[in-house]
Amino acid sequence: MLVRVRNCKFRLYPTRLQEQRLTSTWDGCRWVYNYFVKYGTSLTEYDMNYAITELKEQEPWLRNYHSKMLQMVAKQMAAATKGLQMLRKNGHKVGRLHYLMHEECNSFIYNQSGFKIKRGGKTDLLWLSKIGCIQIRLHRPIGDIKQVTVVRKAGKWHAIVNCDLAAPIFRFISLAKSVGIDLGVTKFVHDSDNHSIDNPLVLNKMLKPLRRTNRRLSRKQENSKNQEKAKTRLQLLHERIRNQRLDFLHKTSTYYSNRYDAIFLEKLRIANMVKNHNLARSIIDSGWSTFKNMLAYKTKLVIEVPPNNTSIDCSRCGNRVSKSLAVRTHRCDECGLVINRDYNASLNIKQKGLRQIKLQLLMGYEEVTPVEILGESVKQEETTRIDQVVVHTVDAKK
Ligand SMILES: [Zn+2]
Repeated sequence: MLVRVRNCKFRLYPTRLQEQRLTSTWDGCRWVYNYFVKYGTSLTEYDMNYAITELKEQEPWLRNYHSKMLQMVAKQMAAATKGLQMLRKNGHKVGRLHYLMHEECNSFIYNQSGFKIKRGGKTDLLWLSKIGCIQIRLHRPIGDIKQVTVVRKAGKWHAIVNCDLAAPIFRFISLAKSVGIDLGVTKFVHDSDNHSIDNPLVLNKMLKPLRRTNRRLSRKQENSKNQEKAKTRLQLLHERIRNQRLDFLHKTSTYYSNRYDAIFLEKLRIANMVKNHNLARSIIDSGWSTFKNMLAYKTKLVIEVPPNNTSIDCSRCGNRVSKSLAVRTHRCDECGLVINRDYNASLNIKQKGLRQIKLQLLMGYEEVTPVEILGESVKQEETTRIDQVVVHTVDAKK
């Protein structure tokens, strides 16, 4: 069984009273967090949990908060301490945990218990222990809930619901329904069926308003009401950019997962590419990794192939035609193939992917791992068995 753990984000509509309670819950979390920053950085998670029970004796008001939620603070604290220790061990210069300020707090977590989704009535409700029933907009079905994180950003409340989705094993993967995708900056994708989609480069378009809003914010007086307003405006702008980008990525990845069983991509070395400053912003803006993650959970099989020479090899005869980034057309002297540069690359990627699958078949591997790219969000309990892959006529060299 392939168990998928997924985070879904739902908008919450708390009443004013509930909003006060939610905000007060942060303050509770923040108080506990800061208490441990002051007294208990050396404690283990277990010790901290014990300390919380003791603390409740001294500070009875802590009982107003869900106990699991306070324990999550201890968990986060322990993780943060461990992270710092790891960095220090690897020779990095690290400081220490500092007190959380009011404005730095914007989320809290209910883990395992203390929440319930109530459906039925006029609206769907999210019940949170010690807080109450908050109106929630469930715009998609959810499975077994493990955890609920409540977040406020740009004045809006959201619940990030972490749930298990039991997905059926992928039985039939038709390699005839496979595609190679070349990711790029001007064209976001160019695939081996010679279909391309322009890159919207959302951030680039929004740079002007972003700079303007930033400039306005910097002119406001420190800690003033106007500064706060300007901050919210900036957050809203960032949110809009993010939403536009995600919308595009979702549409594009759905387009591919609906049409194809197997998708081949290049393994990207983004860290290296970002060093090239001319390209850097466009690359970060493109959201390739997010796109890959989306494909990974939407598609039956996603395979990353090594990126060597995909753009210079000729997809028909294998002849190596070196060219700079500026050359947009692939011209082969050997076989006379003249096609778009990215189209050529995507054909190479497809061939590499198919070869990789066949190699695994030949070497008698029982299983094809649906990629390394299945990130942490997908827990893989069983891989797709190769005997379940139905290989239709494979036309590798189109
Ligand atoms: Zn050629």
